[in-house]
Amino acid sequence: MLFQKPKNIIIAGSGRLGSSLAGSLSEKGYHVIIIDKDEDAFRKLPESFSGYEVAGDAASTDLLERLDIKNAFMVIAVTDNDNTNSLIAQIASRIYGVNQVFARLNDIEKESLIKGFNIEVIYPFLLAVHEFERLTSISIREVFRA
Ligand code: AMP
Repeated sequence: MLFQKPKNIIIAGSGRLGSSLAGSLSEKGYHVIIIDKDEDAFRKLPESFSGYEVAGDAASTDLLERLDIKNAFMVIAVTDNDNTNSLIAQIASRIYGVNQVFARLNDIEKESLIKGFNIEVIYPFLLAVHEFERLTSISIREVFRA
């Protein structure tokens, strides 16, 4: 019988988004490691979460190395700090060659921090703008890009 190697996913930040993603991805069979600097944040994880909780600074290369980031299938940076998220995403993509790297950024002006890297950026602000446009058929995006 052939065993497939588990696909490791590292999630930085166990806030509302990070903990929900961790729960769903671990239910889907991924091997999830979630890092938060505040141990209390792990309380947000759903009962179904079957991965590992690691207390610490997710931007620490020492910690990421100990968690075997170089073999991670995916890294998701969703702390509440844009600079931290871009740093983690850059470390994952640039230093450790992780192929699938996602970073949440709240400030669309921070895009320049990760431009040119192999990183997918999720902007909650732009998602809300797109949804507003979809619901109203009024295009406002260019105003923010000006
Ligand atoms: P939220 O704002 O609900 O998405 O939560 C963001 C989470 O990121 C919080 O639980 C913070 O404790 C966590 N966080 C912020 N900075 C770091 C960091 N450097 N390392 C690990 N977790 C962090």
